[in-house]
Amino acid sequence: MSEYFLPTLKEDPREAEIPSHKLMIRSGMIRKLASGVYEFLPLGWRTVRKIEEIIREELDAAGAQEIVMSAMQPRSLWEESGRWDLYGPELMRLKDRGGREFCLGPTHEEVVTKIVSENVRSYKQLPVTLYQFQMKFRDEIRPRFGVMRAREFYMKDSYSFDADLEGCRSSYDLHFKAYKRIFERCGLEFAVVEADTGNIGGEFSHEFMVLASTGEEEVAVCSCGYGASSSMAGFKGPEGEPGFPEEEEKPLQEVHTPGVTTVQEVSGFLSEKPRKFIKTLIFDSDKGPVAALVRGDHELCQDKLLSASGAKWLNLAEPETVKAVTGGPPGFSGPCGAKIPVFADEEVLAVQNAVSGAGKKDYHLININFPRDYTVSWKGRLRKLQQGDLCLKCGGELKIMRGIEVGHTFLLGTKYSSAMGARFVDKDGREKDMIMGCYGIGVTRVAAATIEQNHDSDGIIWPAAIAPFEISLIQLSGDTEDICRSLYEKLSEKYEVLWDDRDESPGVKFKDAQLLGLPVQIIVGKSYMKDGKLEVVCRRSGKKEYLSPEGIEEKISI
Ligand code: ATP
Ligand code: MG
Repeated sequence: MSEYFLPTLKEDPREAEIPSHKLMIRSGMIRKLASGVYEFLPLGWRTVRKIEEIIREELDAAGAQEIVMSAMQPRSLWEESGRWDLYGPELMRLKDRGGREFCLGPTHEEVVTKIVSENVRSYKQLPVTLYQFQMKFRDEIRPRFGVMRAREFYMKDSYSFDADLEGCRSSYDLHFKAYKRIFERCGLEFAVVEADTGNIGGEFSHEFMVLASTGEEEVAVCSCGYGASSSMAGFKGPEGEPGFPEEEEKPLQEVHTPGVTTVQEVSGFLSEKPRKFIKTLIFDSDKGPVAALVRGDHELCQDKLLSASGAKWLNLAEPETVKAVTGGPPGFSGPCGAKIPVFADEEVLAVQNAVSGAGKKDYHLININFPRDYTVSWKGRLRKLQQGDLCLKCGGELKIMRGIEVGHTFLLGTKYSSAMGARFVDKDGREKDMIMGCYGIGVTRVAAATIEQNHDSDGIIWPAAIAPFEISLIQLSGDTEDICRSLYEKLSEKYEVLWDDRDESPGVKFKDAQLLGLPVQIIVGKSYMKDGKLEVVCRRSGKKEYLSPEGIEEKISI
């Protein structure tokens, strides 16, 4: 360590919000150059290379072949796929001296499709799966959390090309299984979730999520193995499928509710449970105003409303619009007599003698019943998943957790091959589009996500497989240099050892060892001076053992 370029810091950097960002900077793994742009120092790069090697081994074993594509990509190529305009401001664009336009690759579907389409002619050359490790460039709207959401980051991206859908499914499956092994080998706790294919299009997709409370995504996972992003997850309410409990339908009635608008307030005012309420939300959209209904104890999922309505965008309506379409101010809207399309969560329709706004100031309606008192244009799932909801597959309770997306697999279909003419001659002599899959892992994000999941108040706790080194050898006084040197040499035959031979106080050395978080610490200090024993500490459990130096390399396990 006296020679190693390892600048550690005692204090958290001011701009860092989450543990991994703070710890990667404090432990001397990374340094910031500009917003979302980071340098990897020796310690940090060692971990990145370990993750890279695990990925490489698993992908090679799955039959994928490594290449390196260029970061600079000509505009013309992106025009062929139609993404030069579509990708928007996230695409980093530049011009060469002759004024020709390029971008810095945020992803490589265009380039790889060109390579394959120019070099594959026949079904006999398929399938082929290519992958690479490379810095990617994305001008993220909000770069943050260090390398977790950076503007230049290291990604592994793969692309598969098959002659038919069945072949593509098996290429997908090979990658899917390799990804599982990769994240298992990294020592991560993760969930695989069904994901929205969004505007990338394609048949289906999965996201690999490292579970951590600071994750940006919300996911639903079940002990039966089912997982989905929370907006995509299928579920049923804790009472099971919505039905109509036998309750006598009472006559619709208007009640005076001066100044009370929220479900909470009206529920207190009328002494009715929130689950008796029909929450009516009015939205503006590119298709005009729409109303959405969910039960009073539920929350609307706006993504679901977006796909149900087929609108491109939705915003909660301004008070003037609410007044114009319902007759009353916000807080007094209800489904009865609605003049705009009404989208209802299916559970709301099962509520009998329900309460909702009357469409005029200071009035609500009670004893609303479907279909007697209102109609809807659409019914289905509109509400958010919430704690207590049940898995559709096994009936067990779904857990709602936060996750960090570290990997993504996509069955793309022919989106790029048809746009860019990646065709081949099939067995039957006919020309066909190749069927593609694409697969990404954020290598540098994996390092950060690992720390989010594995740290304590003292520092990082590395899983052994991707720790930058395996052992901290801590030399506490100058006169133990000889024994430390011989231990270093012996241990280095089997392990990766970082020897703290610096002229620093024991306090500084212990703190740094905790911060760096290597799996095992071997301390040559008091107990060695007293009775020749080394203090061997497990970073994760804190468990200590006193062992003699002879044959130490056989006695420890990492
Ligand atoms: P996100 O939803 O987090 O923006 P994405 O859907 O844009 O991710 P992909 O295009 O699927 O991501 O990229 C593949 C992988 O690259 C992601 O699973 C993630 O691990 C990583 N990644 C994406 N964007 C970034 C970024 N800005 N910084 C670091 N890693 C990233
Ligand atoms: Mg993104």
